[in-house]
Amino acid sequence: AAPAAERDLTDGFHLVIDALKLNGIDTIYGVPGIPITDLGRLAQAEGMRVVSFRHEQNAGNAAAIAGFLTKKPGICLTVSAPGFLNGLTALANATTNCFPMILISGSSEREIVDLQQGDYEEMDQLAIAKPLCKAAFRVLHAADIGIGVARAIRAAVSGRPGGVYLDLPAKLFSQVMDAEAGAKSLVKVIDPAPAQIPAPDAVRRALDVLKSAKRPLIILGKGAAYAQADEAVRALVETSGIPYVPMSMAKGLLPDTHPQSAGAARSMVLKDADVVLLLGARLNWLLSHGKGKTWGAPGSKKFIQVDIEPREMDSNVEIVAPLVGDIGSCVTALLGGMRGDWPAPPAEWTGAIAKKKEENLSKMASKLGKNAAPMDFHGALGALRTIIKERPDAILVNEGANTLDLARSVIDMYQPRKRLDVGTWGVMGIGMGFAIAAAVETGKPVLAVEGDSAFGFSGMEVETICRYNLPVCIVIFNNNGIYRGTDTDPTGRDPGTTVFVKDSRYDRMMEAFGGVGVHVTTPDELSRAVNEAMDSGRPTLINAVIDPQAGTESGNIGSLNPQSGIRKK
Ligand code: ADP
Ligand code: MG
Repeated sequence: AAPAAERDLTDGFHLVIDALKLNGIDTIYGVPGIPITDLGRLAQAEGMRVVSFRHEQNAGNAAAIAGFLTKKPGICLTVSAPGFLNGLTALANATTNCFPMILISGSSEREIVDLQQGDYEEMDQLAIAKPLCKAAFRVLHAADIGIGVARAIRAAVSGRPGGVYLDLPAKLFSQVMDAEAGAKSLVKVIDPAPAQIPAPDAVRRALDVLKSAKRPLIILGKGAAYAQADEAVRALVETSGIPYVPMSMAKGLLPDTHPQSAGAARSMVLKDADVVLLLGARLNWLLSHGKGKTWGAPGSKKFIQVDIEPREMDSNVEIVAPLVGDIGSCVTALLGGMRGDWPAPPAEWTGAIAKKKEENLSKMASKLGKNAAPMDFHGALGALRTIIKERPDAILVNEGANTLDLARSVIDMYQPRKRLDVGTWGVMGIGMGFAIAAAVETGKPVLAVEGDSAFGFSGMEVETICRYNLPVCIVIFNNNGIYRGTDTDPTGRDPGTTVFVKDSRYDRMMEAFGGVGVHVTTPDELSRAVNEAMDSGRPTLINAVIDPQAGTESGNIGSLNPQSGIRKK
């Protein structure tokens, strides 16, 4: 046994771990290295789940989506300077998406960094992180670790959730202090994300506007999915009888097959609705900023917005009824005011939507279900759509251009928080990080549907998936390139700028690490391979050959490509 004097001491390493554990944080996503290698080792020894990645950005994306799934801040742990910067991309993305996350990075010696004397991995990380996240803190003394971690947790999850940076200089970890004083210095954060009750007159105003509607619409955003107020949201939709459209990560909050879902008539309802209730959704580019031809005649809309962030109101267009508070409290308050005789929306409106839905769904059905090779996107997605229907508790991770746009509309979701995708930035590279965290946090099977280009950003993490033996099945829609596999270099020197090695065998990457690799060319083969993977739970990568001609430039958002006035004749 250790001498008494030693038993009574603790250090920075242990205080960080104890502070996290005290607050119910049990998982760390990171990449080891100086000065945090021992922190990871010790955390594992103390019973935390420590998932070591191959690149910090993927670990950061994992932490971000863990935050979305659990409402606890996901933790990403990195080394200093370059490792920190890699993690920072994910932290900025988490902040943009309103996911709670804490990036903890080791840093070099303050004295040397601040005098810019050229330390190992010298960088003023705190200053760099600050503008890119919700809050940033540095802890210099072991006795302050408890407060530092508490502040980071509260900043990440309270109000609008987001990313927090916690800077821990190397010297902090080895600082020693009296164990009892150390334990007393830790803070258990009480009520980290307090309910925010909306003001009664704001609730009344919202209900008055909603009641006046002839063509009402609810838009469910990922804020509503995050809030985990699933029953209340369902009750609001069903009690009001109002048609709704889910944003992509709110799909499944109510099943996409719900009779009130207007997802298949999206263009029509956005254009024709007269009152729109936004529930945890922002009027950003994904909703054409609430104006323009997507939204019909100018001035034809009234917006009611439910959001925890007061400053979101009027960010793009006038909000006639802002309702500030958390989704659960706001939705419950709205429901309270609907009791009794809430009028159903006019049958003319719901009937028109039903008709449009039917038209669009039968148009889509005719594209699905073909068992042809080479596959086009719809052929392959038809197979995956059936798989999610039969396995509604599986988690779908999705990125790519065409692979994303088409999967979003083809694959119905049935349960909340089962669709994880590129989010607010429409960013590529979230795939493997999201898939790994989804498997780790939920224990459910994960189906990652990836464009071949999108997969490349995080593909090395297939080793991580194999190492932790996670139930992740990756399907790569391999059309030989970005958007399409057909570009050529006009000068004949190099490959075209958007193409990859033709007929690549991504499945062999998975085999290299002991997972299952499958090469498929038809929807039937694809379906068989995915079902097998989902049944076995073994790490699997399916290389699904898609026609290189299939796909459109930039998917649905080709209009965002700048067009030169010179070329346009
Ligand atoms: P989507 O992309 O699905 O439209 P956004 O990320 O644009 O969703 O919007 C989510 C919104 O939800 C943000 O404005 C955020 O402030 C809000 N939000 C997040 N969590 C909550 C919550 N618990 N209660 C209310 N609003 C929330
Ligand atoms: Mg491609």
